[in-house]
Amino acid sequence: MKRAICWIRRDLRLTDHRALHQATEAAEGVAVVFIFDPAILDPLDRDDTRVNFIHQSLFEIDEKLKQRGSTLIVRHGNPVDLIPQLARELNAEAVFTAHDLEPAALERDRQVRQKLIEQGTEFRTCKDHLVRQKSEVLNQSNLPFRVYTPYSKVWKAVLDPTKDLVEYTPDLSKLISTAELANVLRSWTIQDIGFQPKDPWLKAGEDAAKDRLATFLPKIDAYGDQRDFPATEGTSYLSVDLRFGTISNRELFRQALSRDSKGAEKWLNELIWREFYADVLANNPQIVHTTFNPIYKDLEWPGTDEHFELWKAGQTGYPIVDAAMRCFKETGWMHNRLRMIVASFLTKDLLVDYKKGEAYFASKLLDFELASNSGGWQWASSVGVDAQPYFRIFNPYLQSVKFDSEGEFIKRWVPELAEVSGENLHRGESENYVKPIVDHFVQKDLAVRLLSTKTES
Ligand SMILES: Cc1cc2nc3c(=O)[nH]c(=O)nc-3n(C[C@H](O)[C@H](O)[C@H](O)COP(=O)(O)OP(=O)(O)OC[C@H]3O[C@@H](n4cnc5c(N)ncnc54)[C@H](O)[C@@H]3O)c2cc1C
Repeated sequence: MKRAICWIRRDLRLTDHRALHQATEAAEGVAVVFIFDPAILDPLDRDDTRVNFIHQSLFEIDEKLKQRGSTLIVRHGNPVDLIPQLARELNAEAVFTAHDLEPAALERDRQVRQKLIEQGTEFRTCKDHLVRQKSEVLNQSNLPFRVYTPYSKVWKAVLDPTKDLVEYTPDLSKLISTAELANVLRSWTIQDIGFQPKDPWLKAGEDAAKDRLATFLPKIDAYGDQRDFPATEGTSYLSVDLRFGTISNRELFRQALSRDSKGAEKWLNELIWREFYADVLANNPQIVHTTFNPIYKDLEWPGTDEHFELWKAGQTGYPIVDAAMRCFKETGWMHNRLRMIVASFLTKDLLVDYKKGEAYFASKLLDFELASNSGGWQWASSVGVDAQPYFRIFNPYLQSVKFDSEGEFIKRWVPELAEVSGENLHRGESENYVKPIVDHFVQKDLAVRLLSTKTES
């Protein structure tokens, strides 16, 4: 094959890049393309830092391509039109890209494939951002799993690192030279696509992702002991990189498996949680709109909009919840322990529909993944696959005492409590701080009653 396109989407890097590897194996010349899709961008806030993260990561790729005499082609518009158009302009015989299994992406790719086939261009896709994808891990009845632990056991049993965790090194000498591409290159500042520059909370790009991994690896053995404390940097902060593909998922699995410690095993299990939720979404796309557990699909959550707004603003009178929500509003980041606490609080203390919290997270989370976010919210509100039992409810005070015992995290984000300590801090006892908007012990009984009506009916 003389010429091919590699269309990058959730794989914004140049190393261990499967689609680019396949393209450079198959073709004499390869152009790397990214499309800013208005269907994804238009609903977002104009200062969305995820768009800035993508933009900055692309900038880094472009710099690296320029060092090799090539350039990144960037367009703004509907990929269903632009990819076939670019293939014609470049005389590309094939377009290579990695799978994206989110429902809207599948439909987009179906249309792109159809148009490419009509004009005689091949569309070759490969697995990249998951090690095991839809229905590759099945139970004894050949059905997808509904519970994580048996899924993860089979996931590990069927893993063949020599096949599943191969490092794909693209031959970058095959990239088409800039001179040939001059007529298709567009100028592409962040303003050109309608957004304002705003640095994301975590540095963008493949180099920064590699630095994050290098910072985390010396701590991996202690991961099991450190991962639950929001004031400690005990986790990897790599979810954003997995989301945008600024690091290879396979590389993280290789690293986890190369170590023999409880911490590494625990981290491996977290990476598998991501695969599990992706599997659940791929096999049950209806969970984008409704509960996985059908008994809860018509559940009416009685919580009020006023409480929802106070939760978003970090003004509930529960210090650990408020600190988490204020941090989130400012950074787009939230520690996993805190995500569980605030999701439980919204649904089981404020009795607000989990879909509202899920949508708020989706609008702001730097590492937003449809599958993991949906899985996390349905788990916390007890309506999903492998959910937290409805009668087990997080007590925000006890969570605070256990996971932020000195109040280090709380004091960072709730300055009203800077001078308070001990039990008073965890209870938010201060004249300067808002009073609790609900009583946890009253609300938790209401939540049990609400969720048990469906279980018993
Ligand atoms: C309500 C709720 C919503 C969530 N929404 C998202 C989301 O949109 N995107 C997202 O990536 N994660 C989500 N999570 C999972 C988890 O909170 C984040 O993956 C984690 O906090 C990211 O931090 P880290 O990279 O330092 O993780 P580490 O602790 O270093 O874990 C390594 C990787 O494992 C994966 N992982 C860890 N925990 C989970 C989990 N519970 N479920 C799925 N994957 C996991 C992530 O890819 C993470 O980067 C959500 C959890 C909850 C409870």
